[in-house]
Amino acid sequence: MKLLICGSGIAGLFTALSLSGQGHDITLVERDGPPPEAADDTEGAERAFFDWERQGAAQFRHPHAFLGLMCSLIEAHHPELLEALIAAGARPIRFTDMLPPGLRDDYEPAPGDEKLWVMSCRRATIERVLHKHVTALPDVRLLSGRTVEGVVLEEGDGTPRVAGVKLAGGESLLAEVTLDATGRTSRFPRWFRDAGIAIAEEKDDAEIQYFTRYYRLKPGYSEPPREGGGNGDLGYLKYGVFPGDNGHFAVILCMAVAERELRQAILRPELFDDICRQVPGLDRWLDERAEATTDPAGIGDINAVWRHFVEDGAPKLLDFFAVGDAHLRTNPLYGRGCSTSLLHAHLLRDVFGADMDPVRRACAFSERTRSEIRPIFDASLADDKRAIVRAGHEIDGTPAPTGVGASVKGALRDAVSAAARENIHVMRGVMRSFNLIEPPGAFMSDWKTRAIIARYLLRGRARNQEARRRVGPDRNAMLDYVRSLTEGVSAA
Ligand SMILES: Cc1cc2nc3c(=O)[nH]c(=O)nc-3n(C[C@H](O)[C@H](O)[C@H](O)COP(=O)(O)OP(=O)(O)OC[C@H]3O[C@@H](n4cnc5c(N)ncnc54)[C@H](O)[C@@H]3O)c2cc1C
Repeated sequence: MKLLICGSGIAGLFTALSLSGQGHDITLVERDGPPPEAADDTEGAERAFFDWERQGAAQFRHPHAFLGLMCSLIEAHHPELLEALIAAGARPIRFTDMLPPGLRDDYEPAPGDEKLWVMSCRRATIERVLHKHVTALPDVRLLSGRTVEGVVLEEGDGTPRVAGVKLAGGESLLAEVTLDATGRTSRFPRWFRDAGIAIAEEKDDAEIQYFTRYYRLKPGYSEPPREGGGNGDLGYLKYGVFPGDNGHFAVILCMAVAERELRQAILRPELFDDICRQVPGLDRWLDERAEATTDPAGIGDINAVWRHFVEDGAPKLLDFFAVGDAHLRTNPLYGRGCSTSLLHAHLLRDVFGADMDPVRRACAFSERTRSEIRPIFDASLADDKRAIVRAGHEIDGTPAPTGVGASVKGALRDAVSAAARENIHVMRGVMRSFNLIEPPGAFMSDWKTRAIIARYLLRGRARNQEARRRVGPDRNAMLDYVRSLTEGVSAA
């Protein structure tokens, strides 16, 4: 088939990669330009990060976690891409590297552990390598610097058909199948609505804002040991260090939109590092070993979004598929979007391989998306809702939920955290969930896990809570510190 993929970000490139070699003729259309030229991979990674103009992907310079689902699919299906990523500086962090020392010493491999690995790498590096790899495929061509500005619709037998797109400048591109991979700002739903086709959308605001600053290790210095934190949750503030490639790393801070004072301070480069140094675990990264390479940058509009392209068993459109963020989005804090994008691309390849009837393949793609990705989406949304309640409790002193239900849930969470730190079987289950190797929380239906967690429940909540003890300033202490800084800066 003649396939037109709009957008060559993560989902567009993964979709082209997955569909390549199946007898299709694939065209990618992308509004931004290609990665800057470079003499080698190291220079390429630096230039991609510092010089590539990526207005089309606002999250491009925010760090990304690349979870086991994405990494294991790449390893199994695209080994030559994995090789290229490692050559460009991406670092695999295996399951054993992530275990606390007590569990690592007695570790014995179990089937499936080989999928539990993540990749430390800047998104710019991954995207550049992926871009280079996909555009070298013989059945893929990329039109860059071309913006899609509308759709070409045809009347079908009762269901409209997407026949292609209109580009800025007036040209139309026609295809047998059109794919929307234009990401979180996709305008396709609006174009469909303007043509009288309503795509139902679920949208839930996570009510958070996300801040990033990038750093580079100075010559002669290395990363601090992984044990002892670097990621955590102080209730009002979530934080994390994202080790990258080629000596770069990022720090993220994430808080409720309502945290106005803290948000404003964090955006000031002269305050960001001081605030981070108040958080044990971050301070070790921001000592003399590191220098900042970017100013702090924030991103909002963090929503969980799910679009319904098939309703009551009937596709809204034929010969049209939305992949990646254009179809569904989860809170980036969970680091799931690139993994679900690659999975989505693989689902599409399966569907195209099985049935070419336009109605049946639209329904099959919708059904596979629902059965394989919806559990991930639902779990992310439930976590967002819990986090919103907790943030309200922290900021306005709204009472924490009480009653038997709330305390049982709290005791269970503490027991799982404590067991995961001390028991390899529970740790493995938690990591399978975290890495999306199985649906979030599925490990809790395993009888052995339940028996271990029951033992932890019996030993009492006070002991289990130690594993989740918050280390770092509480909200009032942090706000006092921020005020002392801002007053100091204003006085100076
Ligand atoms: C702050 C933040 C942090 C994140 N962190 C993580 C993480 O840690 N791990 C993870 O897995 N995911 C993370 N994500 C999610 C991840 O970035 C997305 O899920 C992923 O990029 C989805 O890929 P996509 O191709 O759908 O969208 P994008 O990667 O955004 O690509 C869309 C592409 O379409 C192009 N485009 C847009 N409009 C047009 C047009 N009209 N014409 C032509 N081209 C167009 C854009 O230029 C872009 O290249 C994060 C997201 C955010 C916002």
